[in-house]
Amino acid sequence: MQKSRRREFLKKSIMGISGAALVPGTLNTAIAKGPQQKEIPYLPSRTLGRTGIKTPVISLGAQSVTTPGFVTAAYYAGIKLFFSATYYGEGNNEILVGKGLKGLPRDSYVLGTAVPPIGFDEREDKFAKDFTPEAFVKKTEGSLKRFGLDYVDILLFPQVCKRENVLYEPMLKVMQDLKKQGKTKFLGIATHDMCEDAIMAAADAKIYDVIMIAYNYKVKNKESLDKAMKYAANAGLGILAIKTTAGAFWDKKRTKPINTDAALKWVLQNENVSSIVSGMSSIEELKKNLAMINNLKMSDQEVNDLKLASSDSEPGLYCQQCKKCMPQCPHNLQIPTIMRSYMYAYGYKDMEHAQHTLLEAGLTGNPCQKCEVCNVNCISGFNIKERIMDISRLANVPGEFLKA
Ligand code: SF4
Ligand code: SF4
Repeated sequence: MQKSRRREFLKKSIMGISGAALVPGTLNTAIAKGPQQKEIPYLPSRTLGRTGIKTPVISLGAQSVTTPGFVTAAYYAGIKLFFSATYYGEGNNEILVGKGLKGLPRDSYVLGTAVPPIGFDEREDKFAKDFTPEAFVKKTEGSLKRFGLDYVDILLFPQVCKRENVLYEPMLKVMQDLKKQGKTKFLGIATHDMCEDAIMAAADAKIYDVIMIAYNYKVKNKESLDKAMKYAANAGLGILAIKTTAGAFWDKKRTKPINTDAALKWVLQNENVSSIVSGMSSIEELKKNLAMINNLKMSDQEVNDLKLASSDSEPGLYCQQCKKCMPQCPHNLQIPTIMRSYMYAYGYKDMEHAQHTLLEAGLTGNPCQKCEVCNVNCISGFNIKERIMDISRLANVPGEFLKA
């Protein structure tokens, strides 16, 4: 597609036809025609805080994407915002996303990536002495090289939860320097759902423009989380939601799928959320999500399906990352990270990401075997020992068996 055409179309969309419904046939045609089509479909959009970026309420989180072609198809289907991370596929995901966006007008899409600083221990949520700004710059430049680009639109400092770390002076400075050098347009943090302090600190820091946050119908701290999100939105930050389906299935056998339309609508009821960064990996998923955004009203059935009113709601696969279990384990296991791995494996069937997360938690054997009894209580009602015994088997499976 010629640059001018896409620009003209986007301009029209922003100026006049917001709210126009995306007809499923239009989407099919857009995906099938790809670069040959005249217009990119317009999708219902919101503004990402003070970045001023108008983005469809569904964006692509590329962690499970396996081909560049899918990224390109998503672009032609109307997706504007794409996210990767240095730790997805050990950098290979950034290469893949870069290939998928190659040759497209640079101002027609928005690309973000998450770069964890060397010397930031996300398990302990603290900076160590070996943190250096130079290493962070080098890591970010490595990211740009893999994308094949001079800059990203949004650079995220991921998996930070404590206020003191969001406000860590050397980190703030190096991020601002990268922005001044033109290597990123906007800055942000990514955090879990029990981190209201981090959200508010990001607003107070004044340098951040975007927050990515785990937000779904299973969160137990909705009231305080909504308050923190409102605080950040009022300060001008754009809010992106992740982990929005809370595991995709209620059970590990995948016999009870979560109503994903209902889960996504639930998130978008909160108008402070600009867009959902959804880990889509197939055209079917893309079509389903894009069809959903034409009608965000939740039906009674959808409310029912999320078991919002049910007192015996199943534990499901989603861990709140509250860390309340950790002090209860004498072996000091990184239970929240291990539970995330369990969800990636059983909920999303993303075994590579699940294994990577297990290793991130430092789990190489089966430490629970040593315990006759486990007294760890989980606020979500998980049987912690059973889940760890189960998922720990994945740690030593050779990587080639896990590739799709
Ligand atoms: S069984 Fe596992 S989780 Fe429970 S106390 Fe022992 S090591 Fe910790
Ligand atoms: S396993 Fe349970 S207690 Fe531990 S972080 Fe997850 S939800 Fe919280």
